[in-house]
Amino acid sequence: MRFLEDLDPEQREAVTYGEGPLLVVAGAGSGKTRVLTYRIAWLLASGRAQPHNVLAVTFTNKAAREMAERVEKLLHGPLRGGFVGTFHRFALTLLRQYPEKVGLPPRFAIADEDEQRRLVEQVLKELGIPSTQLSPRAARAAISRWKNGSSSAVSASELVSAVVERYQERLQAAGAVDFDDMLVLAVKLLAEDAGLRQILRQRFTYLLVDEFQDTNPVQMELLWHLAGPRPNLTAVGDEDQSIYRFRGAELEHILRFEHTYPGAKVLTLGNNYRSAEPILKAAAAVIAHNTRRRPKLLRSCSGDGEPVRVLAAADESDEAGLVVADIRRERAAGRTSIAVLFRINALSRPLEAELVRWGVPYRVVGGVRFWDRAEVRDALAYLRLLANPDDELAFLRVVNVPARGLGAVTLERLRQAAQIWGCSLCEASRRLPETLTPRAREALARFWELLDSLRQQAGGSLRELVAALLEQSGLAAQYDTREEEDRARLANLDQLVNAAAEAEQRGLTLPSFLDEVALLSEADAETAPQSVLLSTLHAAKGLEFDVVYLVGLEEGLLPLMRGEEPELADEEEERRLLYVGMTRARKKLVLTWARSRRLHGETRTTRPSRFLAELPPEVRREGLTSPSPLPHWEPKPLVRPRQEAPAPEARNGFRPGMKVEHPTFGRGVVLQVQASGAQTRVVVFFDRAGKKTLLPSVAPLKVL
Ligand code: ATP
Ligand code: MG
Repeated sequence: MRFLEDLDPEQREAVTYGEGPLLVVAGAGSGKTRVLTYRIAWLLASGRAQPHNVLAVTFTNKAAREMAERVEKLLHGPLRGGFVGTFHRFALTLLRQYPEKVGLPPRFAIADEDEQRRLVEQVLKELGIPSTQLSPRAARAAISRWKNGSSSAVSASELVSAVVERYQERLQAAGAVDFDDMLVLAVKLLAEDAGLRQILRQRFTYLLVDEFQDTNPVQMELLWHLAGPRPNLTAVGDEDQSIYRFRGAELEHILRFEHTYPGAKVLTLGNNYRSAEPILKAAAAVIAHNTRRRPKLLRSCSGDGEPVRVLAAADESDEAGLVVADIRRERAAGRTSIAVLFRINALSRPLEAELVRWGVPYRVVGGVRFWDRAEVRDALAYLRLLANPDDELAFLRVVNVPARGLGAVTLERLRQAAQIWGCSLCEASRRLPETLTPRAREALARFWELLDSLRQQAGGSLRELVAALLEQSGLAAQYDTREEEDRARLANLDQLVNAAAEAEQRGLTLPSFLDEVALLSEADAETAPQSVLLSTLHAAKGLEFDVVYLVGLEEGLLPLMRGEEPELADEEEERRLLYVGMTRARKKLVLTWARSRRLHGETRTTRPSRFLAELPPEVRREGLTSPSPLPHWEPKPLVRPRQEAPAPEARNGFRPGMKVEHPTFGRGVVLQVQASGAQTRVVVFFDRAGKKTLLPSVAPLKVL
């Protein structure tokens, strides 16, 4: 097995460890994820396991895909039959197989964020709870904590219990589960069905978990049921990177692994292959202030590098200006793997504005994702109704989209009818109750006819089904091709057809396509390799970049304070977040803070984060030094490349960074050019109107 040569001796020991529980606990960048990947390859190559014996759990779908690809590369063959994915994906797979065992309808729906929010709001209204007493946001968080069995939520108040109960009733009545339910129900399934437990234990003889420090009690229980008494469970993690307490993650799980799994072997890895020496030293010095951890030593294998830079800006736009100027220098010097990380999403706005100003391509993790756009969600709701005509949440979303006169009054009457008949809302609507107006009955009849006729095509091509839906439902026709906003929506619907075509090629059916979409999370966003990534610290876990900027290092932001002083445990969690951020950097790390900051409409004088004082003086420097002079490039008119050879990104004469003008939206900068020819779409950030996607073949876009 030649691939074992890619590992150092400590890593090799972990990869080739025999049977029994194994915990690899080691610092950031020491190769834990690599060990897990190579271990899967080794188990298969050595004949200890067949692909279908392997169950590997990663933190995001994206990480899972990368891991599977890596294993296939090492083995020069496909990893068919093995499971590599998130806890949620695994749970959903189980529930789809045995829905009836936990009282779910055969094609149960998955409530998305939007639907969960609406449901909570409805419940609060029904119970007459004013938002001053319990905000919808707090209620959702409480529901989630309750479901995840976090110890901090044991004593839920009566109020919260009532909300949880009613919410759950509503969700069940709608034949739906939410994200947390997936795990909870999978655990219930395994806890109650010894036969199934047995089957799964016989099948999955090797369990592997990455980012083990962020498992919550429900996930631990799931593992426990799958693992059996003497499991071949390999967990890798780093308690210093445990940052999901708010989702119920418990540090105890990793700190007490040997206790939970007696006889467990604990190995550590001492080399860091990611970060240059000063970055590693700085990060280690910061995290050493935490008490609940196993002390670790890490040697840098990437040699010396620049000291960690600390930068004080006057305010948030000054901070954005300094960071983006430095990013431009780095890009001019050829470094393109760059990230700007922050504690809360609201910090990204000034940075975006500055990046746009200079035409630097970027991606935001946690912006409105393609799959969350209203027009896309509408189309998906129709698809969900095609897959399951009793999906009440989907029904409620689109019964009147496009508008067909089926408003609140109709819905109320349908609810009453459903109650009298003792059937679901969808069923009641199909029976066209007499209490409705003739117009409403007619409209409803048409609605279900449309779905029936589309369903006849559902067995065929997924792409054609989606295209037919968009046309026959009137979803596409709602939008006016003369309106820019609407054209962007149409473009998104086109994208959806493309996504369906792509899924069809991968052999997905309508239900599996819908499940895949439902499981996508923020951190799964694809990032164009050349663009600057703007991300929260949470979503950056497990990733690495040549250059990392951490902005907003101020008291109140990191550590984040909501109202009062954080308790000690929270301070340690905030310090871990900083540690995660710092250790994403390979070559260069810059930490910035602003003396005053405008946030949520309020300007405040700030103090530097207490954590900055923890950086050892020998590895920190104030201010920036330029690796090369700032490239001379005024953010002003660019020549339209006509005679000269077009730049690689230039399409149809447009390219990122170019200044353009539009009769309605005014002036803006081109962010991105997609496709070419008549299909060209240009993403423009307008000074006044914000970000828009335009079709230059129709939109009168003038290059300045
Ligand atoms: P994190 O704690 O951030 O999740 P990790 O411990 O999972 O980090 P990896 O992401 O597996 O670390 O590895 C960090 C980097 O070091 C990767 O780029 C990886 O390819 C590289 N690396 C790991 N081990 C070796 C090795 N033996 N030789 C060369 N490069 C290595
Ligand atoms: Mg990792």
